[in-house]
Amino acid sequence: MTEFVLHRSAAPSTPEQRAEILANPVFGHYFVDHQVIADHDESEGWVNPRIEAMGTWQMHPASAGFHYGQEIFEGLKAYRHDDGSVWLFRPEANAARFVRSAERLCMPRLPEEAFVDAVRKLVAVDSEWVPDGEGEQSLYIRPFMIASEPYLGVRPASGYTFSIIASPVGAYYDEPVTLWLTPNYTRAAPGGTGEAKCGGNYAASLAAAAEAEAEGCGQVLWTDGAERKYIEECGTMNFMYITADGELVTPELNGSILPGITRDSLLKLAPQHDLKPVEAQISVDELFDGVASGRIVEALACGTAAVVTPIVGFKAPGGIHHVVGDGTPGERTRALRTHLVDIQYGRAEDAFGWTQRVV
Ligand SMILES: *Cc1c(COP(=O)(O)O)cnc(C)c1O
Repeated sequence: MTEFVLHRSAAPSTPEQRAEILANPVFGHYFVDHQVIADHDESEGWVNPRIEAMGTWQMHPASAGFHYGQEIFEGLKAYRHDDGSVWLFRPEANAARFVRSAERLCMPRLPEEAFVDAVRKLVAVDSEWVPDGEGEQSLYIRPFMIASEPYLGVRPASGYTFSIIASPVGAYYDEPVTLWLTPNYTRAAPGGTGEAKCGGNYAASLAAAAEAEAEGCGQVLWTDGAERKYIEECGTMNFMYITADGELVTPELNGSILPGITRDSLLKLAPQHDLKPVEAQISVDELFDGVASGRIVEALACGTAAVVTPIVGFKAPGGIHHVVGDGTPGERTRALRTHLVDIQYGRAEDAFGWTQRVV
C-alpha cells in the first residue's frame, strides 16, 4: 500500500469550537476534523489511501456489510503527556489483531505497518484534538473495515472500505460494577467469532446488557457457549480476579475470548505488584465459591476504554448475590490501573517499550 495522501479539510473546527468540545467531551459523540479512508478492490488491492475531511460517506444500499455483517474494528487511544507530546500505546498490537479479525471474517489483510502509519498520520494531523492528560482525558481512535461491494449474494465481498475516525474522551470516573450472570445469553461459541473484534458480536450482546441493567447490574458476566459453566468475559471487557495468596487470574484464551491488549499488559505488569499471572479455565462455581470463602479478594474488568473497572459483586438468578471483599474497589486493582495509566501518560517507566511518540 502506498502512502496515505493528506487532503486537508477546507473547513476545520476553529480553536474556539475545539476548546468548547474539549472542555466537555462526550465519548463517541464529537469527532476530529479528518478521517482516514482506503478502498480495497479484488484486482487492485488497497487503492486511494487518503486522509480527508470528516464527513458522511455514500454507500450503495446493497453493500454487503449492511446485510451480512462483514465488519471489524479496533479501539486504541492517543495520550498527551505533561510536556505536550502525544503518544500511542501498543498500536502494533491493534494492527496485528485487526489482521486476525479480518482473516476470521474473510476480509482483506491490511498490512500492519499501514495500519500503524494511518493511525499516526491521523493523530498527527488532528493532534490539537488530543486533550490534556488531566483527569485521564485522551483521544479515542476507531479503525474499522466494512464490506462495500453492492451484491446480495452470500460470499466474501469483493470490495471493502477501511477507515479511521477519532473522538476525544473526557475525564474518567471510577465506577465499580456488579456483574449479572445471564441465564439466557452467551456472547460467543466454540468455532464462532468471539476471538474477532467484529460488530456482530456487539449486536448479539445488547439484549444481555439490557437484561443486566434491568437486574441492577453494570455489566454481563459471560460464560462459555457450550456448557455455560466457565467464565469468559464481562460486558465488552476481559475479566480478572486477585486471590488472597497473590495470583492475578484470568480465563485462558480459548478461541471465544477476545484477546485484549489491556489484559495482556496487566498480566505482564503483575509481577511488579507481587502478583503471579495465571491464565486458566475458571468455572462459575469456582468463582462464586472463591468469593464466598474469601479466597478471591478483588475482581476487575479491563479494556482500552475504561482501562480497569473494579468489580464489587456478582448476581445470578435465584437471588444469588456475592460481594467481593468489603464491596469496595480493591487496593491492588487500583494499583494495577494506576501503573498502566501512568505508563500511558509518561509518568511511569515504560520498561516494555509499549509507547511510541507521534508529535
Ligand atoms: C476490545 C474488547 C476487549 C478489550 O480489548 P483491549 O485490547 O484491552 O481494548 C475485551 N473484550 C471484548 C469483547 C472486546 O471487544
